Amino acid sequence: MADCVIVGGGLVGLTTAYTLNQRGLDITVIEQRRLGGSASWAAGGILSPMYPWRYPDEVVQLASSGAHQYPALSAELASATGVDPEWFPCGLLTLDIPENKSLVAWADRTGTALEVCPKEWVNKQIPSMSFDGTAAWMKQVATIRTPRLIKALHSYLRQRGVALVESHKVTGLIRDGNRAVGVDLGGNKCLGERVVIASGAWSGLPLADLPEMPPIYPVRGQIIHLDAPEDFISTMILKENKYLIPRKSGSILVGSTTENVGFEERTTPEARNELHDFALNLFPELAGRRVINHWCGLRPGSDDSIPYICVHPHVENLYFNTGHFRNGIVMAPAAAELLAKIMLGDKPAQAAAFGFHRPETNRN
Ligand SMILES: Cc1cc2nc3c(=O)[nH]c(=O)nc-3n(C[C@H](O)[C@H](O)[C@H](O)COP(=O)(O)OP(=O)(O)OC[C@H]3O[C@@H](n4cnc5c(N)ncnc54)[C@H](O)[C@@H]3O)c2cc1C
Repeated sequence: MADCVIVGGGLVGLTTAYTLNQRGLDITVIEQRRLGGSASWAAGGILSPMYPWRYPDEVVQLASSGAHQYPALSAELASATGVDPEWFPCGLLTLDIPENKSLVAWADRTGTALEVCPKEWVNKQIPSMSFDGTAAWMKQVATIRTPRLIKALHSYLRQRGVALVESHKVTGLIRDGNRAVGVDLGGNKCLGERVVIASGAWSGLPLADLPEMPPIYPVRGQIIHLDAPEDFISTMILKENKYLIPRKSGSILVGSTTENVGFEERTTPEARNELHDFALNLFPELAGRRVINHWCGLRPGSDDSIPYICVHPHVENLYFNTGHFRNGIVMAPAAAELLAKIMLGDKPAQAAAFGFHRPETNRN
């Protein structure tokens, strides 16, 4: 019997396995498809919430703590596995910010390095961009290549003896009275002292006879990968919820859509055109450049964008680490730490904000 069975092999499941393994627990991860997840594999990899000032403080703190862990995590994984997740501190420039005043106050209050920049400064920095407004510059924000991060974690966890089971769908929970003691794999059983649901967009689906699941639903996101001249942009650029992310190779990711289309995991020509137009409106010079790739993933969405990092209200030893919506990459290491603390008996003060039944949020 494992000390803990984790349902879902996306980044949240894998970082939870990493953290619990470091604490000495024997872990099994069960993934219905291939390890890597739906949202995790597809993500752009910005290591900050977009417009962080619009989120509750607890979300910003968790994201900031996750972002701070990435340089060391990325280096550790690269050295142990030979796969470099390419943590890249290229900064984030947010264009056309409507909330100038509250932004400065927010940055002061939260200790975030942020500069409000006039259009002259922006135009000097990025002369090829068509822009006529005010921007916010957060130079400390980094990006990471999530498929590489997942590959490195996969390899690292195998080296450490974590059992990674692919192509097995969890169909139910096994209980001993009021305690979770494992999961059902459609006939086979996988027993564990504890169970963690980290099944992303699927986490809200009923699991056997469980009375309550968190209200999580899928939100599709699409990204295109665009060819670009070498060193075309050196920073991430965000405008009206869409963004450009430079890759070290010189190409650019253009993301992303937010679509409520249920569990429909397919790309569409409309989204491809929308993202392409967005890039060309900012950088007319990119006209004629090839779309190298186009993909999508299902985010674990919720109405308040606050993840569930908690124990089930009625079932002992059944935990959740899910519902990270647009911020699951940046939050993952810190969310895993928080869950480990909750699971292993610490009572972290920040846990209340991520509970199954949460207090009113502190929106800014
Ligand atoms: C286009 C796009 C761009 C994004 N960009 C960013 C970004 O720049 N920065 C950021 O921080 N976040 C970003 N996100 C959000 C982030 O990707 C997600 O919040 C995060 O990846 C969620 O991770 P997860 O492991 O919970 O879900 P997933 O990665 O979806 O993994 C869940 C896994 O659980 C498995 N599963 C489900 N049900 C079962 C079952 N019954 N049995 C076994 N396995 C099961 C699924 O197959 C899946 O592999 C983006 C998301 C998308 C789609």
